[in-house]
Amino acid sequence: MRGQTEITRVEGASHVERAALTAPSDGAEAVEECDPLFVFIRTQPSNEWLPATVLRNDKGFVLTGRDLQAAEEFPRIWKKPRAPLPLETSEPGIFASGDIRAGAMNRVASAVGGGSMVVWLAREYLALT
Ligand SMILES: Cc1cc2nc3c(=O)[nH]c(=O)nc-3n(C[C@H](O)[C@H](O)[C@H](O)COP(=O)(O)OP(=O)(O)OC[C@H]3O[C@@H](n4cnc5c(N)ncnc54)[C@H](O)[C@@H]3O)c2cc1C
Repeated sequence: MRGQTEITRVEGASHVERAALTAPSDGAEAVEECDPLFVFIRTQPSNEWLPATVLRNDKGFVLTGRDLQAAEEFPRIWKKPRAPLPLETSEPGIFASGDIRAGAMNRVASAVGGGSMVVWLAREYLALT
């Protein structure tokens, strides 16, 4: 494990053989032999278009279900005489599925499954309204 380091170049003839590691603090580069290279990409939610009333966690992922009810702001912000439906956000009638949801599985099947659940849940929401 090496922190504060960027992989700035990958070299090799037919497969990965070397990686150039650069320290952003002083720009010093060291080339090290390696094989293979595992790239772990973090997620960052695109949530700027959502109303502020849709609660997010500290990383910007949308709170639903148990995570929503456990949030400190929940009792103040939730105005309905019922608990939120599964996948419902703090804004009644707005549901979240897929990677943007806090606690998401980050898998295609779970994003698609959540989306199809929301079709059914929207009908339940309308029946309660
Ligand atoms: C490198 C990589 C490999 C992966 N491999 C696998 C795998 O092997 N198996 C697996 O099950 N899962 C895999 N995943 C995870 C999987 O891709 C996600 O869990 C899944 O795509 C989530 O679906 P989503 O609809 O929630 O989000 P996304 O697929 O990210 O879709 C969100 C869409 O919204 C669009 N968008 C964003 N902001 C706006 C906006 N303001 N207005 C309009 N559109 C907007 C984006 O352009 C995007 O098209 C992988 C992910 C990555 C990054």
